[in-house]
Amino acid sequence: MSEQEKKNPANSVFALSRPSRCFGCDTKLVVDDIVKLNSKNEDEKEVLCRKCAGLDALEILRSGNAQITRLAKKYSKQHFVILKWSELWKTYERQGLLVEADALSRAKKDAKK
Ligand SMILES: [Zn+2]
Repeated sequence: MSEQEKKNPANSVFALSRPSRCFGCDTKLVVDDIVKLNSKNEDEKEVLCRKCAGLDALEILRSGNAQITRLAKKYSKQHFVILKWSELWKTYERQGLLVEADALSRAKKDAKK
């Protein structure tokens, strides 16, 4: 994780590593659902589903294609880094990005050129 991301946790979302419930609408959430965590204090965190967090218009871009990732980041007005807790490594692993749908399709198109 870069220094910038550590200082700016508002730009991170999380892929659940265990089932949960949305604090806002009580929807059941399953593993790998994308959520936003609002820290109330050290121990308590509110889990918000993509809809409640206002992120349902954004699309998931899995890590793997460096060119598409770079272009999507450039085209998207906002993007969030998707992190998932790894029990094995005891650290957050980067899963990909949440970007605007338009930016993603534009990036995919441009990457083929
Ligand atoms: Zn919700």
